[in-house]
Amino acid sequence: MKTIHIEKQNSSIYVGESYLNLSKYLPEKKCFLICDENIYKHYSDFVKQFDYIVMGCGEGNKNWLTVEKIIEQLLDRGADRNSFLLGMGGGLVSDVTGFVASIFMRGLEFGFISTSLLSQVDASVGGKNGINFGKLKNMIGRFNPPRFVICDPVLLQSLPKREVRSGFGEVIKHAFIKDENLYYFLKENREALLNLDPNLMEDLVYRAVSIKTEVVEGDPLEKGERKKLNFGHTIGHAIENNSDLTHGEAISVGMNLACRISQDLCELSEDNTKKVNNLLNDFGLPLQHDVSAETINQYLIKDKKKNRSTIDFILLKKIGEATIVTIPIEELKTMVIGLCANPKSAL
Ligand SMILES: [Zn+2]
Repeated sequence: MKTIHIEKQNSSIYVGESYLNLSKYLPEKKCFLICDENIYKHYSDFVKQFDYIVMGCGEGNKNWLTVEKIIEQLLDRGADRNSFLLGMGGGLVSDVTGFVASIFMRGLEFGFISTSLLSQVDASVGGKNGINFGKLKNMIGRFNPPRFVICDPVLLQSLPKREVRSGFGEVIKHAFIKDENLYYFLKENREALLNLDPNLMEDLVYRAVSIKTEVVEGDPLEKGERKKLNFGHTIGHAIENNSDLTHGEAISVGMNLACRISQDLCELSEDNTKKVNNLLNDFGLPLQHDVSAETINQYLIKDKKKNRSTIDFILLKKIGEATIVTIPIEELKTMVIGLCANPKSAL
């Protein structure tokens, strides 16, 4: 087991710890477990040890209605300011649990057992939580770190293959923006990683979490450096919201498009773009999409990271090094039209 402690946020991440050792980390408080239907189905014996609340699966449940229902149940069962919320699940459960814990009675302590690859490397780290507002993703939420996150590789075994691939999209992103060695590690161990070899997965999650932690520690409120974690996400979110692609799949497409923009705006070499695309391909992630430029552009206008007439866009200089470039939104829209009109150059 490897521990990462984020000093400033007083938050610890235990990578490779068994979820069955949870009691070591729980404070002496009344604990309520929040999970989704899937987790309940797979781990009901564990869940039933707690006072538990089950929410629906899927992004469609990441809304006010779910938050209200959870708060109603917490009140019915006598939760108070001294209660502790434990989220067990992927990014959706973490986001909702963290958000409820942030607003219920002005804030409760909370922790997570992270069950998906995506949430182990991304959603649980850094203290962002939130819900969607209509079609707009994560429009309402807070920065509020959990007390702990348990990342148990054993939990990944029960994930559907597509969800695993989606998680790799986020891990690969960390390599591209910050760590060339991680890029080689992924390339060399592709097969064992896709088979979820527990030791390699522990190593991989630890490396990705370490990168994210380092970035987040330097910039807890996403004013500068942390924006780099949004590589592939600006256009990726637009695609995710308007297609059947998962988050990891959509940001894979978004990273490919961002690389092509990087070739124009910051001299990323064509060879590096090919390496990016090949690695994404090797992990079964898509590079193409069928969302129209118009739909993407409409979404970009509403993107919360936009300030006035420009957008902070993350580009690659080379594999392992990202940069933040402020692009006029009109210019970006023109580039999106060009990229969508010429999808073949993606490969
Ligand atoms: Zn993401």
